[in-house]
Amino acid sequence: MSVFAYRQGELHAEALPLSRLAAEVGTPFFCYSHAALASAYDEFSAAVAGLPSMICYALKANSNLAVIATFAQRGAGADVVSEGELRQALAAGVPAQKIIFSGVGKTAAEMKFALETGIRQINVESLPELRLLDQVARGLGRKAIVALRINPDVDARTHAKISTGKAENKFGIELGHVQAAYQEASGLAGIDVRGLALHIGSQLTDLEPYRAAFRRVAEITAELRGVGLTVDRLDLGGGIGIAYRGETPPAIADYVRVVRETVGSLKTELAFEPGRWLVGNAGILVSRVLFVKPGASRDFVIIDAAMNDLIRPALYDAYHAILPVKEAASDAPVKRFDVVGPICESGDRFAEQRPLPPLQDGDLVAICQAGAYSAVMASGYNSRLAAPEILVHGHAFDIVRARPDYQSLLARDQIPDWLGAGSGRPGQAKGARGAAE
Ligand SMILES: *Cc1c(COP(=O)(O)O)cnc(C)c1O
Repeated sequence: MSVFAYRQGELHAEALPLSRLAAEVGTPFFCYSHAALASAYDEFSAAVAGLPSMICYALKANSNLAVIATFAQRGAGADVVSEGELRQALAAGVPAQKIIFSGVGKTAAEMKFALETGIRQINVESLPELRLLDQVARGLGRKAIVALRINPDVDARTHAKISTGKAENKFGIELGHVQAAYQEASGLAGIDVRGLALHIGSQLTDLEPYRAAFRRVAEITAELRGVGLTVDRLDLGGGIGIAYRGETPPAIADYVRVVRETVGSLKTELAFEPGRWLVGNAGILVSRVLFVKPGASRDFVIIDAAMNDLIRPALYDAYHAILPVKEAASDAPVKRFDVVGPICESGDRFAEQRPLPPLQDGDLVAICQAGAYSAVMASGYNSRLAAPEILVHGHAFDIVRARPDYQSLLARDQIPDWLGAGSGRPGQAKGARGAAE
């Protein structure tokens, strides 16, 4: 059962009516459920319990510190893709020993920070990266613990922009070069190469691409071992999908069965990096209807959330269910609307020709499945203030990221003196002048 459900005619987050939250924090806002986060983690954890494995939550899906801390408290590790995320994982209580650093373009400074922090593993995606990491590690008098990310060249059968395991994608080392790269890595003084990693894409709703990819990993592992190399870690990435619109993503137990069948007998330590699956269903974006605008060819519902808050529909043509917070009568007439935001882009649209019950100016709506790749992708476009994030916990809630104020918006930029700053323009708010004075 979803933690976001109607009770007494109103959509709730756990025990809290959304209208009350909207009155307290203003709209738009992201609302996360601690119970949903915790139960997703516990379900994943129970499913992999029999395997020698670690769950490294992929922070990029939602890097709010309170979300990370929810998982950290339950024993999770983290998969990070930047120094910023690495610092967030540490700040939220993930032990360095459980952190894996992924990503195709790490800088020397990020490598240095990761090595000094003593994280579990750095996943290397190319020879130039391997050589730079070797150099950085030797400079510090350390050895970097490494897995090589391979590109298994399988089609994840997901949206092109979130497919990562095909030969034409930028990710990983191509199959034909893995053995030579592994050989080279094992000869470098600053590198301790321990295994292989892969991540074939996101929002996978089919197990067959996993099976194909994990089989390739198993074959390569056998080949590498056959020439005397040590492979004792496999990082299987993330990517398991959720239901946005009636998809039937695999059950975790079935995914784990594929893992056992393909790589289970290799006697390696395993890492899983779920992101979306852990957080996607645990969040919603709550917004208020500004205007219902009848148009010549279609009718619009203009809401106070926009593509800067949630870009998935504009970026991936993603579908998000939209629910009225006040429950519609079962016999309410349904009409088709385009649900749009206030931004000056036609792409600022959450839904096209979506059947909805009657809505009025001032009504609240919830955009569902907004826990993953939502707040983290927010921008400041149109100089809109970022939507706050709240975490509901039973009958209580906390603001886990506050809405910034206009003061901080204006304070971001500096007008150089030679442009005549200080002439009393409204932009010259106090605090806007920096250390240059
Ligand atoms: C994005 C990413 C993940 C998480 O993907 P989900 O689809 O959110 O599960 C895991 N590992 C790596 C390397 C990633 O880039």
